[in-house]
Amino acid sequence: MAALRNAVLDVAQILLRSLPWPIKPGLIAVGHPGRDAPVLLTCNYDLTVRRVLGALRGLDVYLLVAPSKGINVWCAAAGGYFTSHQVISILRTSGIGDLVDHRRLILPQLSATGVERKLLEERTGWRAVFGPVYAADIPAYLANGKKTEAMRQVRFTLRDRMEMAAVWASPVSLIGAAILAISWRPLLLPFVALTWMLALGLYVFFPWLSKEAESAHRPAPAWVRWMVFFDPRVRRNSAVWLVFLAGMWSTAYLVGDWRVHSLIGWSLASFFLMLLISMDLAGSTPVYKSGLHEDRLLHVELNADACTGRAMCREVCPKDCYVVDAVRHKAEIAKPNACVQCGACVVQCPEDALAFVTPAGERIPPDVIRTYKLNMLGARATSVARD
Ligand code: SF4
Ligand code: SF4
Repeated sequence: MAALRNAVLDVAQILLRSLPWPIKPGLIAVGHPGRDAPVLLTCNYDLTVRRVLGALRGLDVYLLVAPSKGINVWCAAAGGYFTSHQVISILRTSGIGDLVDHRRLILPQLSATGVERKLLEERTGWRAVFGPVYAADIPAYLANGKKTEAMRQVRFTLRDRMEMAAVWASPVSLIGAAILAISWRPLLLPFVALTWMLALGLYVFFPWLSKEAESAHRPAPAWVRWMVFFDPRVRRNSAVWLVFLAGMWSTAYLVGDWRVHSLIGWSLASFFLMLLISMDLAGSTPVYKSGLHEDRLLHVELNADACTGRAMCREVCPKDCYVVDAVRHKAEIAKPNACVQCGACVVQCPEDALAFVTPAGERIPPDVIRTYKLNMLGARATSVARD
């Protein structure tokens, strides 16, 4: 029964992933944890908690569920809903300090854009470390006591991409179907079918498409910020829309709806679909920045004189951008083009040796990145509490 409930919840939460799905924050004892049991922490998004609990099956650990307004770790941390404030609050209210003899807290790596390790330690005395990106790697991480390079990196596998296609296609097709059911019923089924085909096609070919779109990291006209997919420099991607248009026109022909206003309607509908789905193609995964995000054009600057080589940047970078010279105690940004401007390294650097720099050369200091998180439109405008 529980398995069936989980399967139904999995499907519902994947299809409606753009909505928050909160559960009650608190402390969960997994197995029979003793006084030296590891203490892990995650957000209060139901799908995440169930996946983490699934990965922890058979282990004896404590899991703290911190309030994040029911949003997943990556989005909540970037948006200011999963910060040091929420972690401090759950550490203080859960009573975990009375249950264990140590003060070591394992945070999800993707929370590093929002949860400041240094501040957490100063305010609570708990020593925070960033665990693996994926819950499935937690057992190996706990067994080995350290994170491998693979555990630090975000992947966007075919399965992840299919999930993301469903995340985009389900609300678009639901809203579109509701409107068409009232106003233009013959187009309802083709619209829904083509929405799903487009979404699945985009995400199957995401690795190829995102490589093309990477050229949009250069300064671009203002409108490009809103429509990465239509960036004139990303010409090959336009072919996808043309195929989509051809598919729609062929369907119109097959159903016998070959009138001028219908063709215009089909074309407008396809343009809307492309706009809706492709506009944020880049923002649906931690491996690529949203077209909406103004941070997309920033680059990370390293002040080598201030760097002490403590490697926190390498520890939290989901794109493996850093190498750290253990002899010279200096970091180097070895793969600047792989950066997705998540800000995790800037937030966590204990020496403030890192900062973002705009295309105009303006430096954005670490405390701005720590204090102002991204709003729904990708602007750094949401101020967060840091105590
Ligand atoms: S976290 Fe900061 S001080 Fe540490 S290695 Fe990276 S840049 Fe240097
Ligand atoms: S180098 Fe880029 S991708 Fe890596 S942590 Fe820093 S901002 Fe994020």
